[in-house]
Amino acid sequence: SRPSDPVRWRRDFPLLSQRVHGQPLIYLDNAATTQKPRVVIEAISRFYKTSNANVHRGSHALSAQATTAFEQARTTLANWLGIDDPACLIWTRGTTEAINLVAQSWGRNQLRADDLILLQQSSHHANIVPWQMLAETVGARIEVIPLQPDGDLDLDAYRLLLQKQPKLIALSHVSNALGTRYPIEQLCRLGRDAGAVTLVDGAQALPHFDIDLTRLGCDFYAFSGHKLFGPSGIGALWGRRELLEQMPPWQGGGEMIRDVSFSGTTYADLPFRFEAGTPNIEGAIGLAAAIEYLQQQDRTAMERHEQTLLQHARDCCSQLKGFRELPFGSDRVSLLSFELEGFHQQDVAHWLDRHGIAIRAGHHCAMPLMRSLGLPGSLRASFAFYNRLDEAEQLASCLDQLIQSQTTSTTVAFIEQKTS
Ligand code: PMP
Repeated sequence: SRPSDPVRWRRDFPLLSQRVHGQPLIYLDNAATTQKPRVVIEAISRFYKTSNANVHRGSHALSAQATTAFEQARTTLANWLGIDDPACLIWTRGTTEAINLVAQSWGRNQLRADDLILLQQSSHHANIVPWQMLAETVGARIEVIPLQPDGDLDLDAYRLLLQKQPKLIALSHVSNALGTRYPIEQLCRLGRDAGAVTLVDGAQALPHFDIDLTRLGCDFYAFSGHKLFGPSGIGALWGRRELLEQMPPWQGGGEMIRDVSFSGTTYADLPFRFEAGTPNIEGAIGLAAAIEYLQQQDRTAMERHEQTLLQHARDCCSQLKGFRELPFGSDRVSLLSFELEGFHQQDVAHWLDRHGIAIRAGHHCAMPLMRSLGLPGSLRASFAFYNRLDEAEQLASCLDQLIQSQTTSTTVAFIEQKTS
């Protein structure tokens, strides 16, 4: 593996050398989506230049080649996640589709009226709405695991909720709005002991640290490729074989059948029974290239660098008048969620954008969380391993310029122009 070196890592990401509004780009919106290393872009391009054909219909050489690359991608991901059964890894469009798959297939089949589903206060809408849709269909109930005021999950409240014998617990590994990393192994163990099935949304976890799915203890794990330095429109669901085997298909079509007649259809084995239609072949191959890229780096060094970045950003920003962080708990990935007193969030984001700094303002698809905090949303600077310490400094100094010029005509004119 290569030494920790953000400058060297950056060179692998062509987009990062862009200018935005005439300024060098400072990309701090990695929780929304990450940039792609050259090897990913090249893998997709190479597939179209040399191997493009439909998969699993191998009556010619190109199709066999495409199928091999597509299935090899599944194996690459499975190995990376520590699972020895690639058939339990199902390609989806991303986290959202993976969770909907579980809700519509496992959920409709297993949940009955008055069964309890536990959701988490800080979850992304993708881990809330599919369960609400399911609950409405089958008449199940939903209760919510709250956060403590410091941002950590309220374990006592969780234990009490477990006494109500929930059937399903939908957890978030890392909050996309606060950055909090939740103790998933412990939460899954407690959930399992209470007899529940657990699903973990890993969309914001895998970009920051490696996991071992055999040790995590969940029943389902969902994630997205585009947040993981891979392409958009590809992600995956991992599930325990016992559960996946009991689950009916949720979408019908080609690729997912064994035999079709008008008197009845039988379905293919795992994982194909959950992959109706032509899959995102280049997406899977591009995502595998992203994983191979990560495997070649020193991920512990990346994580250490990201934590240094986060601490540096906090140190610089905490000097600013009116800077206030949202509660984030005791363990967090490199994500800074904050408010700037006296400023409208969108105005701050526009100001930063004019200076080449990309962050996100708003509710971050976590409206129930923001409502519980009594906030309309937050400003979110989310870092990746390719960000430099001076980028964190520039974020702080650009915010400082905004604060300093609060009463000057330029800022007022700027804000008026943006809000009019
Ligand atoms: N869960 C979390 C925690 C997320 O951050 C996101 C993306 N913002 C999603 C789910 C949804 O992912 P996707 O849109 O890629 O399906």
